[in-house]
Amino acid sequence: MSDLVKLKVDTEACIAGGQCEMIEPDTFLVDDDTAIASVIGTGSLPVDRAAEVIDRCPAQAISIVNSDSE
Ligand code: SF4
Repeated sequence: MSDLVKLKVDTEACIAGGQCEMIEPDTFLVDDDTAIASVIGTGSLPVDRAAEVIDRCPAQAISIVNSDSE
């Protein structure tokens, strides 16, 4: 139906701040102790919302997981 893409967070690149959790609280969780974000739930979003959260991450730490190995 809608184009869902799966997202991941590069925990080495994440500089905290929690923009991703603010924008998509069902998909990202910022750890209370480390302040580093991780993907929760299915980790999937419609492609337009995925593009937005990727764009808003100040550290370019969010990316799309390629399910195909091309
Ligand atoms: S928006 Fe980017 S840098 Fe900020 S918490 Fe999320 S993944 Fe980390």
